Amino acid sequence: MTWQDRYQATLMNTFGPPARTFIAGDGCYLTDADGKRYLDLLAGIAVVAVGHGNKAVAEAIAAQAARLGHVSNFFATPPQVELAEELTALLAPAGEARAFFTNSGTEANEAALKLTRLTGRHKVVAAEGSFHGRTFGALSLTWTEKYRRPFEPLPGDVTFVPYGDVTALEAAVDGSTAAVVLEPIQGENGVIVPPDGYLAAARRITSEHGALLWFDEVQSGLGRTGEWFAHTASGAAPDLVTLAKALGNGFPIGACLARGAAADLFTPGTHGTTFGGNALACRAALATLAQIGPLLPHVRETGAWLAAQLAGLPGVVTVRGRGLFLGVVLDGDVAPQFQAAALEAGIILNAPRPNVIRLIPPLIVTRDDLAYLLELWPTLCEAARR
Ligand SMILES: *Cc1c(COP(=O)(O)O)cnc(C)c1O
Repeated sequence: MTWQDRYQATLMNTFGPPARTFIAGDGCYLTDADGKRYLDLLAGIAVVAVGHGNKAVAEAIAAQAARLGHVSNFFATPPQVELAEELTALLAPAGEARAFFTNSGTEANEAALKLTRLTGRHKVVAAEGSFHGRTFGALSLTWTEKYRRPFEPLPGDVTFVPYGDVTALEAAVDGSTAAVVLEPIQGENGVIVPPDGYLAAARRITSEHGALLWFDEVQSGLGRTGEWFAHTASGAAPDLVTLAKALGNGFPIGACLARGAAADLFTPGTHGTTFGGNALACRAALATLAQIGPLLPHVRETGAWLAAQLAGLPGVVTVRGRGLFLGVVLDGDVAPQFQAAALEAGIILNAPRPNVIRLIPPLIVTRDDLAYLLELWPTLCEAARR
């Protein structure tokens, strides 16, 4: 019996049959149970930002585990305080923002959604094509019919508007709106970048009506675009930011950041968690953040270079995204076949839409690593069409 056979016999069938079993990782490369090596351009879905087997992260976790792993949120630990200071400083001047730590992206969104209810309003405006997670609250903000339908009725009073459409947003937001939630770049929808000015317009519209502006940066945040946040360039200052994926480089941790008046909406007893923000997770995140900062120029340069290289390749209609957050639009619905051919050739990537290949590699990826993808591209394209 292979690992895959044993997996299928014992794990719930939520993800379908696993394509491979991986036993080790090193930087941008993974090794499967047969000893075959793969270039990983998916990074555990935008998670492993500073690479597999990252030494500094591993050592930070080991040292913290030996000293103090968990004490419950009745008490403070230094890693938790340091991480809150570092993350809030990325968003606002000292004293203007606060953090709530979770174990995942959906939990960060759950915290943010509960927080919006404390405004006394309950209407939330979200975008068509959005993905915010699988727990009930986050699912109520998620657009995809196939994820929602089996679980209805969902909580919340949620209105969906076309992503990137300022007029539609203006029409949907009023004095009863608690919050507008947007991904600054939509990830699961195929790496969709909104038109210039959209995020700033969302700030203006929410401010006019006293609603909170909430950016879900779970996938787009923490260096993925070559900036700390994908919204940084827009100049729009959100009230809420949710984070997860890259935060712990694979150690499960998420965060809900709030600034201004929103930062003081939770009071003792209104929300909580057992594991969220424990010393191990926060130490992993601190070791990750310390490495992401110096990588930002590299992410911008390598991402721009990769996008330009891809744009000239066969089968490519357009390349969208920013930094190392790229969606390659193919001239046919062959992205799943392309993904399968790539895996056979030793490259891991995925297809969030039938005609889109998503590239979200570790932020440490180099031009030399990526040369293999570019070299193989015409062959993969041909294989995808057969
Ligand atoms: C992945 C993702 C989530 C959910 O995160 P989980 O850790 O899987 O719960 C939420 N929002 C966005 C934008 C994501 O990409």
